[in-house]
Amino acid sequence: RRKSDTVSVVVIGLGRFGAAVAESLVNLGQEVLAIDEDAELVERWADELTHVVQADTTDDEALRQLGVAHFDRAVVAIGSDIEASVLTVLALAEAGVPDIWAKAITRKHGQILERVGAHHVVYPERSMGERVAHMLTGGMIDYIEFDDAFSIARAHAPAETWDKTLAESALRSRHGVTIVGTKRLGEDFTYARPETRVERHDQLIVSGPTDKVERFCTLR
Ligand code: ADP
Repeated sequence: RRKSDTVSVVVIGLGRFGAAVAESLVNLGQEVLAIDEDAELVERWADELTHVVQADTTDDEALRQLGVAHFDRAVVAIGSDIEASVLTVLALAEAGVPDIWAKAITRKHGQILERVGAHHVVYPERSMGERVAHMLTGGMIDYIEFDDAFSIARAHAPAETWDKTLAESALRSRHGVTIVGTKRLGEDFTYARPETRVERHDQLIVSGPTDKVERFCTLR
């Protein structure tokens, strides 16, 4: 396997999602091999990404020639062409790539990807749609839900927490949530401590079971 100071992640498909993944990896200092069958896209990304090649990744032989089997990680960012997405994941799994991430557009698509060898399946549109819905209805400024029904949200401090310390508010026993951090207007977030005083206009980072976090964030 390649050493961590050389190319370590192969990103397949340079649509909006794949290009964002590849670009972020490069900004994080990772070297990336990006592959797309579309010559125009390959040309467009040639300056930003160090290694971009044109190939059809459903073709085992093309993958072999690119040395894809030697990568530690692969991201398959093919969305709309489900057949190409499935065949690519299968080819990577058969080549023995140990950590395969794949984007799915539907639940069924995701299940198939898991069956053929994807280790992690992500649903970017669905995840973002869920987050936006929570932000729209739940009084949350930002929101992330983990798959074990545990969430972290950023929310405005409800009135019952104003002018009290977190210890006095006793939110864990009263609402089943834990405050992780607090933020005063114009200041940075700081870790929450029992003696942290909350004021009107403060923001809180709230964690806990999703239903409890949701209920807490709708308090005014
Ligand atoms: P997004 O919604 O993120 O834009 P798309 O599904 O539109 O994702 O983009 C997928 C990308 O994957 C496209 O750029 C397409 O050219 C590329 N792609 C599709 N099939 C293959 C394949 N067999 N080999 C290589 N690249 C492919």
